[in-house]
Amino acid sequence: MSVTLADILAARSAIRGVADATPFVPSPFMSAQAGREFLLKLETMQPIGAFKLRGAMNAVAALDDDAPGVACCSTGNHGRGVAFAAARRGLRAVVCMSRLVPEAKVEGIRALGAEVRIVGTSQDDAMAESLRLCEAEGLLEISPFDDPRVIAGQGTIGLEMMEARPDLGTILVPLSGGGLAAGVAVAAKAINPQVRVIGVTMERGAAMAASIRAGQPVEVTEHASLADSLGGGIGLANRLSYPLCRDLLDDVVLVTEEEIRHAMQVLYFEDRMVAEGGAVVGLAAVLYGKVQAAGGPIATIVTGRNLDMDVFTQVVTGQDVTLGDQTLKGRAYAA
Ligand SMILES: *Cc1c(COP(=O)(O)O)cnc(C)c1O
Repeated sequence: MSVTLADILAARSAIRGVADATPFVPSPFMSAQAGREFLLKLETMQPIGAFKLRGAMNAVAALDDDAPGVACCSTGNHGRGVAFAAARRGLRAVVCMSRLVPEAKVEGIRALGAEVRIVGTSQDDAMAESLRLCEAEGLLEISPFDDPRVIAGQGTIGLEMMEARPDLGTILVPLSGGGLAAGVAVAAKAINPQVRVIGVTMERGAAMAASIRAGQPVEVTEHASLADSLGGGIGLANRLSYPLCRDLLDDVVLVTEEEIRHAMQVLYFEDRMVAEGGAVVGLAAVLYGKVQAAGGPIATIVTGRNLDMDVFTQVVTGQDVTLGDQTLKGRAYAA
């Protein structure tokens, strides 16, 4: 079982008119920093404020009308996508999340009519609860990243980017469970095998990065982060997103909380855009010289904008930011 360009083309038909065709725009400031054209794929403009609607819609589209409903675990945005897609088809949806998921994300999911279960303190706890529910109540599991329909749905982003700009040299992809990076890499490399696809994630608790280094899926300790969407394990029984990321990613780069904060400030002050910490790691990687771009423009996917507005205010006004039991010391924006 794997995911091919044909699966991604089929996914594009399944999501057309609802979760596709987001803007793809240049950032003059980032282009100056990178010394070459730098483009932003704005998944913040999705109806749920994040790209995960693509995979969720493709997975839900594959279900029968008399399906008993769906369950998933989520760091917030996948649950929102599943809730939206299930509601459109009149299906029951149960979203399992840990206590690390910000309240703003939990509320967004409830507002779409899904049932919410808060369990434990890690994405792994939420994953166990989702699997238990599927067993107990006959619901159908939609993994946030280790599902071929979800990976194909996320891959439509790579298709749109390569079709708009066949000259792209490097694509920087925010990386957590790897469904997005796997789908984008399959699509982009099918169109141009030369294009480089680089995963970017936060320094602390980067499960896919640690797994690729170890040569097999491993568990990591989860930490509070500005990039809360990138938290969580990849599952020790990972079947798809791990091998695809291991085989297709040209590199995996890590960024610190300081660097993520600065990238959120850059996007806000220079491009006048609001995005989550997990969505700006591609900008952070370039701002801190962590990727050597070669041959052609660089693009990154600004993956979502579903952040707590109190945290966002602290970030852009340069105040201290509380991350779990740690404090990221305040720092005002300076280009
Ligand atoms: C889920 C998510 C990611 C990472 O996607 P994976 O498929 O888990 O690697 C990145 N950014 C945001 C905003 C997300 O919600």
